[in-house]
Amino acid sequence: MGILVILEQKENSIHRMSLEAVAGAQDMSDKLNMEVSVLLMGADVSPHVEKAQELEIKEVVIAQHELLNEYSCDGFSEAVRQVIEKESPDYVVMAHTYMVRDFLPRVSALTGAPFVPDVVSFQAIDGEPVFTKQMFNSKLGSDIIVNGSQGGLISFQSAAYQADSVRKGNAAVRDVDISLVPDQIRSDSEAPFQESSGGVDLTSAEVIVSIGRGIGEESKMPIAEELASALGAEIAASRPVVDSGWLPSFRQIGSSGQNVSPKLYFAMGISGAIQHVVGMKGSQNIIAINKDPEAPIFELADYAVVGDLHEIVPKLAEEIRSS
Ligand SMILES: Cc1cc2nc3c(=O)[nH]c(=O)nc-3n(C[C@H](O)[C@H](O)[C@H](O)COP(=O)(O)OP(=O)(O)OC[C@H]3O[C@@H](n4cnc5c(N)ncnc54)[C@H](O)[C@@H]3O)c2cc1C
Repeated sequence: MGILVILEQKENSIHRMSLEAVAGAQDMSDKLNMEVSVLLMGADVSPHVEKAQELEIKEVVIAQHELLNEYSCDGFSEAVRQVIEKESPDYVVMAHTYMVRDFLPRVSALTGAPFVPDVVSFQAIDGEPVFTKQMFNSKLGSDIIVNGSQGGLISFQSAAYQADSVRKGNAAVRDVDISLVPDQIRSDSEAPFQESSGGVDLTSAEVIVSIGRGIGEESKMPIAEELASALGAEIAASRPVVDSGWLPSFRQIGSSGQNVSPKLYFAMGISGAIQHVVGMKGSQNIIAINKDPEAPIFELADYAVVGDLHEIVPKLAEEIRSS
């Protein structure tokens, strides 16, 4: 079957990270010459079929069952197991969401297919698929080759691919039968984990103004807030700012915070430590202001401004407001 992407649904739409996973699958398809299909699973997936059909894929496969009304690890893993048995995909691809972390290892155990989680990039070397994931708090990159005859289960890290780059098409739709009985579902799941407790979804923000320790003290925070307001941006921060209590933890970007991929990421007074960078390196454009010309963030920045943020940022906000 080639590549089967499982689309996750979130708040009555297809999860943005699932669209990133489709972009990843399309990249794999270009390099491996395989077709991509997507799977919609649930009790009633009809609200999502039209959107899924608009993707440049072979077909939308639909697996509906009343016992998939609520997420359960047992129900979802058994449903995916049955789909894999019937369709024999070479690769099953998903976004590395909380739900995937919960049930895809179980699918791996049920099917014998190896699971490569949290993949950040993909390449084909001499036609051989190679998946890269980060290890030891992103200090090392590890290249993984899936072998064996069972295919592979792959989850892509947030921002490994851009949802905007998904190619559009007009796909066919097909049902696949699955059978489930209540006894197979032995666990009740609680409400979905909320990435952000503050009602702010940084993962879908288009512009982010991010503040680092270089801001100096809490009383200077309005400088950044003024710039964010002028740009219509969300505010975010590196860990020291959150640890100091100047912003709530759901605004932290990085390995122990959120992964974001805005169109513009404004890093002010942020050095560019790896634990921060893993959370924002998927940004389409990065502007960094730092008084240290050797700051590592400049290796990543599209626009590097060497200087004192306390001088630059207020003037910039004023300029943006008056333009
Ligand atoms: C297990 C673990 C998990 C972690 N998780 C995260 C995480 O999720 N997110 C995260 O961000 N960090 C995380 N960290 C911390 C991380 O290692 C760094 O310490 C942190 O990112 C540094 O934050 P910073 O860049 O704001 O501060 P610093 O590294 O102190 O950098 C401040 C920068 O501001 C510049 N500066 C100072 N004054 C000015 C000025 N007036 N104008 C312009 N520039 C100025 C300096 O030149 C410097 O480059 C984690 C660490 C560990 C060990």
